[in-house]
Amino acid sequence: LERYLTAENCPFCKSRIGKVTFFSFEGNIALVNIAPVLPGHSLVIPEKHIKSLIDLTESEINLFFLAARKATKILLSAFGTDAFDWSLQEKPEAGQSVEHLHLHIVPRIRKDLKDPGDWYPLVQQNDKMIIDSLGRPRLSKSELEVIVGKLRETAAKTEV
Ligand SMILES: [Zn+2]
Repeated sequence: LERYLTAENCPFCKSRIGKVTFFSFEGNIALVNIAPVLPGHSLVIPEKHIKSLIDLTESEINLFFLAARKATKILLSAFGTDAFDWSLQEKPEAGQSVEHLHLHIVPRIRKDLKDPGDWYPLVQQNDKMIIDSLGRPRLSKSELEVIVGKLRETAAKTEV
């Protein structure tokens, strides 16, 4: 985990994030997860290398969750659903592996998993996979382009 303690070697701070970003709002960005647990699985993060929700000022926390709700609306519109999960882990003890504040958003559709609650262990595994898969994203370049393009298009025409 020490590898990720600074902005210089944080996977979320690296420039390649720009390629998967589909929405930004007041210092926060929404990006497509390169190793999604379900279609549309995305992350909302502060652009700055902030480790913890606890470190945000009251106005920053307001903007972070506003950005998260806006990104969620875009995802719901793009995936034609009103169901979603959010998850946020703080510190390794809680399952956080990349020490840059990130909220998982997973749009859900009926019967996408055998049991609706099955998403959570998948997200926990996924947080580890972000590290494992740095050099080998599970979505191909063209798959990423399609989903990011679709979400950017939705963002442009969705009132959030
Ligand atoms: Zn970072």
